[in-house]
Amino acid sequence: MMEKKAGWNLENSYKSLPGTFFTLQVPEPVRAPKLMVLNEKVAESLGLDAEKIGADVLSGNEIPEGAESLAQAYAGHQFGHFNMLGDGRAVLIGEQITPEGKRFDIQLKGGGRTPYSRGGDGRAGLGPMLREHIISEAMHGLGIPTTRSLGVVTTGEPIYRETEQEGAILTRVAASHLRVGTFQFASRFGEVDDLRALADYTLERHYPEGKDAPNRYLFLLKEVIKRQAALIAKWQMVGFIHGVMNTDNMTISGETIDYGPCAFMDTYDPKTVFSSIDVQGRYAYGNQPPIAGWNLARFAESLLPILHPEQEESLKLAQEAVLEFPKLYEGHWLDGMRAKLGIFNEEEGDRALAEELLDLMHKHQSDFTNTFRSLTLGREKSEGFNTSDFTSWKERWKERLSRQDETMEASKQRMRTSNPSVIPRNHRVEEALKAAVEEDDLTVMNDLLAVLKDPYAYSTDQEEYCTLPSPTTRPYRTFCGT
Ligand code: AMP
Ligand code: MG
Ligand code: MG
Repeated sequence: MMEKKAGWNLENSYKSLPGTFFTLQVPEPVRAPKLMVLNEKVAESLGLDAEKIGADVLSGNEIPEGAESLAQAYAGHQFGHFNMLGDGRAVLIGEQITPEGKRFDIQLKGGGRTPYSRGGDGRAGLGPMLREHIISEAMHGLGIPTTRSLGVVTTGEPIYRETEQEGAILTRVAASHLRVGTFQFASRFGEVDDLRALADYTLERHYPEGKDAPNRYLFLLKEVIKRQAALIAKWQMVGFIHGVMNTDNMTISGETIDYGPCAFMDTYDPKTVFSSIDVQGRYAYGNQPPIAGWNLARFAESLLPILHPEQEESLKLAQEAVLEFPKLYEGHWLDGMRAKLGIFNEEEGDRALAEELLDLMHKHQSDFTNTFRSLTLGREKSEGFNTSDFTSWKERWKERLSRQDETMEASKQRMRTSNPSVIPRNHRVEEALKAAVEEDDLTVMNDLLAVLKDPYAYSTDQEEYCTLPSPTTRPYRTFCGT
C-alpha cells in the first residue's frame, strides 16, 4: 500500500487494443534491487512523491496497485531489414495519469524476459542504463522532445555480455511507446480492423484534434510527418546522432526514443558515426533526415489499407504526404540555423550563408558546439577562426545581421537561446559512467547532470565542460544492446 501513498494513478488503456498487440507480462523479480538514481523532477511532474518511490517498484519486484503490466508487440526495419520484434526486455507497468490529467507510459527497461525476447536475456547493464539516463536528461535540457528516465536501479544480479556487468533497470517515461514499428506490425500481421483500432487509439491518445477530420488516418500520417520533421531538425541543430534509427525506434508521438549507441558530435563532419555496428554509416549525422523520410515512408505504407477504400487513391495520398517531409524538414532546418546565427528576418541567401559556415567547419575540422558557442560569445578570434575564408564569412554574416531591424544585442540573445554552451560530450559521459560503475561514485554524473539541466545558461561552471576530448580518446565508439 506504500505505492498508493507514492501517488501512483495507473491506467492500462493499451489493453483496450486487440490482444495481438501485447502480452500480459509481469516483470521477472530480481534478487537485490538497489536504487541508484531517482529523478525527482520527473517524479514530481508525474504526481509522484519521490521519497516514497523505492527500488521495489522500480525493479518490478512490486507492482503498484492498479497496474496490469504487459509487453508490447511491434515489428520494424532494422538497418533496412524487416523483422518481428516487440518488447524483448521492457515491461509496461501502466499509464500514469498526472494531476494535470496527462497520460504517460511507465516502462521498466531491463525488466526481464518476455515472449518477444528471442535469444536475449531481457536484461540491461548499469552503464548503458545510466547512459540513457544522462543523455535523455540532456535532451530534455536542450528542449528536444524525449522520453524521460524516472530512475535507475541495480538488480543485484550480473548480466553477461562481452564481460560480466551489473544488471540494472531504467524506468522509462514516455508519452507512449507507439512506434512506426507498431503500425508495421499491425499492417503485416494483423487484420485491417486491428490496424484501424491501432490508428484510432493513436489518434485518441496523441492527435485528438484529428478524430473528426474528413480523413482521420491521413490526418494522423501528416501530423506524424510534421512532428518528426521538427524533431529531426532539432537533433541536427545540436549535433545529436541517434545511431539506430530503425523504424521501431521512431515514435508516433514525436519523442526521441531508445538511447543505445547515440552520441553527440564533436568535430563537424556529416559522415560522423559512433555506433560500432553501423559500418556503412546508414545512420550517420548527415543521413538522419533522409533516413527519417525513409522510415516515414514505411509508416505511410503501413497505413495504405485504411487511407482510402481505393488502393490507387491510397497510394497517391501516402506519396503526397511523404513527399512533404523533406520540405518540412528543410524549413525547420533553416529556421533553426537562422536562430543559431542570430537572424530574425528571412533572406534568400540565408541557406547559403549557413551552409558555407558548415563547409568551413568541415574543412577546418571545427568543433560543432564550440563554433556556435564562440560566435555567440563573440570570441571567434581566439579559437582558430583566423583563416581568411572564415574572416570573409564572418564579414558577410555581420553584414547580414545589419540588414534586420533587431539590435546586435537581440541577435546575441537569440543565439544564446539557440546554441547550447554544453552538450554531454562523450569523454565526459564516459568519465561519469566509469566513476559510477567502477567506483560506485555518482558525484561525477551528478555534476554533469547539473550543468546539462540548462545548457543555454552560459554560466561559469559550464566552462570546463566545453573543453574537447584529447585526441587519444578519439574516435569514439558506442555499442548497442548492452
Ligand atoms: P533496439 O536495437 O534497442 O531497438 O532493440 C531491438 C530489439 O531487441 C527490441 O525488440 C528489444 O526489445 C530487443 N532486445 C534488446 N536487448 C535485449 C535483451 N537483452 N533481451 C531481449 N531482447 C532484447
Ligand atoms: Mg528499440
Ligand atoms: Mg535499445
